[in-house]
Amino acid sequence: MSHKCFISFKTEDIEYKEEIQEMDELDIIDKSLNDPIDSDDEDYIMRKIREDYLNDSTVTICLIGNHSAENSTSENQSYIKRELQASLYNKPNGVLGIVLPNMYDKIYKGKYTCSECGQKHNFVNINNDTTIREFNYNYYLPLSDDKCAWSESDRYCVLVKWDDFVASPNNYIEKAFNKREDDIASKIKVYPY
Ligand SMILES: [Zn+2]
Repeated sequence: MSHKCFISFKTEDIEYKEEIQEMDELDIIDKSLNDPIDSDDEDYIMRKIREDYLNDSTVTICLIGNHSAENSTSENQSYIKRELQASLYNKPNGVLGIVLPNMYDKIYKGKYTCSECGQKHNFVNINNDTTIREFNYNYYLPLSDDKCAWSESDRYCVLVKWDDFVASPNNYIEKAFNKREDDIASKIKVYPY
C-alpha cells in the first residue's frame, strides 16, 4: 500500500527530490511552498498550507542536506519550517527525515559510552546544527526520567540514510505513516520554542 507523500527540501537538494519522484512505486505530490502566505492568523496559514500544498498527503519527507540547519544564518528556512509545522498541525502527517549522503559523517557519529547506564548508545547528531527545530524536537522528544537514551518508540520523526531509503522506500514511508496512530503522536510540538 502506498501513502501520498509531500517532500520538503532545499533547492540545492532538488536532484534527490526528483529521484524520489521518479520511483515508480511511490505517490508523491509535486509542490513546494514558494510564496509566503500573507496573514496574521496562524491557524489560517496552517490550514491554507495543508489545503493548497500538502493536499491529502499523510507522510512528509524531509530531505536533510547541507542547507537544512536551524543555525545556518545564510539560509532562509521559513518555507521548510512552515511545511513541517503544517505537516505536524492538527491531524499530523508522519515525518520521514532522509539524511543525504553529504551529511552522513556529520550526523552518524558512531557510539558513545553512557554515563548513566554504562552501555553504548548511538550518537546521532540531530540538532539545530543539522536540522530545523521542528524536526529535531520531534525526533528527540523529551524522555521520561527513567530513560537515558532514545529508542524508536520515543521518537515521532523517523530517520533514514538516503542509501537505505532507496533500497526499500515504502518500508520507511510505512514506518513514518504508522507513527500517526502511535501514542508518541500526542507529544508532538508544532512550534517548539
Ligand atoms: Zn544509557
